[in-house]
Order: sequence, then C-alpha cells, then structure tokens
Amino acid sequence: MLDGMNSKVVLVTGASSGIGEATARRLAAAGHQVFLGARRIDRLVAIGKEIGSGHRELDVTSLESMQEFVAAAHDQHGRIDVLVNNAGVMPLSMVEALRVDEWNQMIDVNLRGVLHGIAAVLPIMRDQRSGHIVNISSVSGLRVDPTAAVYSATKFAVRALSEGLRQESRDIRVTVVSPGLTRSELTDGINDTDVRSAVRGQMDIAIPATAIADAINYAIDQPAEVDVNELVIRPTAQG
Ligand code: NDP
Repeated sequence: MLDGMNSKVVLVTGASSGIGEATARRLAAAGHQVFLGARRIDRLVAIGKEIGSGHRELDVTSLESMQEFVAAAHDQHGRIDVLVNNAGVMPLSMVEALRVDEWNQMIDVNLRGVLHGIAAVLPIMRDQRSGHIVNISSVSGLRVDPTAAVYSATKFAVRALSEGLRQESRDIRVTVVSPGLTRSELTDGINDTDVRSAVRGQMDIAIPATAIADAINYAIDQPAEVDVNELVIRPTAQG
C-alpha cells in the first residue's frame, strides 16, 4: 500500500467495465485515489462503493462532458496526477459494408474522446508542472486486420498523437498501452453478426483485463523522471 506521498489522483475513462474497471480496482487497491467516468452511472456507483472512489457520468465524445468530469475530480482532490484515456468502442466490419455511422462512432469515442481528455487535463497538469497521460491504443494500432480498418485507423492515430504529445512535454509523462485480445465487453458492440462470431471465436485465448491493469499500474508507479513510453501486452498464444 502506498503512503500519502506516493498516492496519486488517477482519472479513468470507460471505468464501467473491462480494462477500465480492472484498472480502477487495481489502482485503488494499490492506494491511489481513483475517479471513475463512463455513461453507465449505475455501474460506476456500484464499483465506486466497493473501492471507495468518486465518479461522474461521462460521455467522452463531448468536450463539455469531459471538462465537467475533470473539474469534478479536481474539485474533489485538488490536483490531477494521471488520466487514463481508456474509453473505446469496436464495431468492426468490412469497409465495403459502408457502416458510416459506426466509423464516426469509433472516431468520436476512440480518437476525439482521447483528444478531449488531453484538452481537459493539460492546462491543469501544466500549472502543476507534472502529470501523466496514459492512452489505451491496441495491437490494432500496430497492424491492420480484415474488418478492423477504421478501428485500426483510430488506434494508429492514438499512438501518433501520444508520441507527438510526448515530444512536446518536458514534465508531463505520456504512455501508450496497446493490449491484445483481452476479456471484456468490447465485442458486444460488433453489430455485424458474422464478424462478431468470428472475433468471439478468437477470444478463447484472451487474457484477463487485470493483465492490462497491472501494466498501467507499472507505468504509473515509475519515478517522475521515468516515462514508460509504450507497452504492448498480448496473450502468449496470439499471432
Ligand atoms: P469494454 O467494452 O468492456 O469497455 C469499454 C468502456 O468504454 C466501457 O466502460 C464504456 O462505458 C466506455 N465507453 C464507451 N463509449 C463511451 C463514451 N462515449 N463515453 C464514455 N465512456 C465510453 O471494452 P474494453 O475494456 O476491452 O475496452 C477498453 C479499451 O481497451 C478500449 O479503448 C479498447 O479499444 C481497448 N482495447 C481492448 C482490447 C480487448 O481485446 N478487449 C484490445 C485492445 C484494445 P459506458 O458504456 O458505460 O459508457
């Protein structure tokens, strides 16, 4: 358990399930002060009660909602040490299926959502002259698979903007975490039934979300002068 000096205020977007929930639980257990955001407020209430954390309803596609989320955490704790930009959606399909609404949804949540998070915390972190932004990309940010063109495009973009932000910053750490197949609710959002069953067929090798939470905890716990730039965590059996 961390002492008061090393306990950080950590905001987690998409904390209502999967990797975000596991990360919130892991960091709270380590002694950090966690603040949860997502749309399913009932889940945040239940998780928050268990781990003793604050929460606020958050839609990352809205800059205003993100700013209110960050302000609520700042009001409660007086500082913001870490933002984990984790919220994401993955309605996979072939480009030729032209599911344009789903493309826009992925761009809005996976890319604009991360940018909104950065825009909301950066002024505070600059004033503090310290902070840490952890962006969740994917192995789909390193390679492109069939049906994942647009999803991959958003995750490549998250890696690109993280690297650009890292180069600009001298006192703010930036980490990209790129998970492989991980057990969560992510495949529930695949509306193309053939694609959904094909992806679910690969999930028997998926690793638990706690494996990703452990990696995030590792990056956060490094000394301030050490920035873990990128972590890729795959199931051993994933090609
Ligand atoms: P889940 O579906 O379990 O979690 C996604 C989270 O994002 C939920 O908490 C959901 O909360 C939140 N979310 C979705 N849309 C919004 C929104 N508009 N505003 C706020 N929150 C939102 O999936 P994972 O845990 O797997 O996904 C977490 C991250 O990990 C994503 O970025 C995903 O792309 C990435 N990832 C996952 C992999 C995997 O195999 N599982 C592999 C590689 C990367 P709510 O619906 O309550 O708003």
